Amino acid sequence: MKNNSQLICPNCGYDLYRKIIINYQKEITNMFGALEKNTRRKIKDVLFKIDKFSTIRQYDIWKFLQDIIAIKPPIIDKALEEYIQGNHEMKGVNYLKSMILNLEANKNQISLFQGSKPPIKIIV
Ligand SMILES: [Zn+2]
Repeated sequence: MKNNSQLICPNCGYDLYRKIIINYQKEITNMFGALEKNTRRKIKDVLFKIDKFSTIRQYDIWKFLQDIIAIKPPIIDKALEEYIQGNHEMKGVNYLKSMILNLEANKNQISLFQGSKPPIKIIV
């Protein structure tokens, strides 16, 4: 399927493809509500830290949550932990998303709950 995210206006939320206006705030609230409480809190903490370096648009949060919402909490938590420990806050929300998606893609090679930590390829 064609990626039509470019057809959505980051400012007003108009979706040229579906001919609707996306209510970013409402959908962000719903997606946060669907996340596990601890994961939600950790994501909000990290987004707050990123926002101190450069303002995150509602669109960026909406897109981020859309792309990670189906990923299991331990994967997201692990990526958030690495993001914080690596002081990556200034690299922004898309870098965090890449870390989560890479961890998800490599989850079969990675033991999340043991000490071993093979290198993870980061796509930015
Ligand atoms: Zn617009």
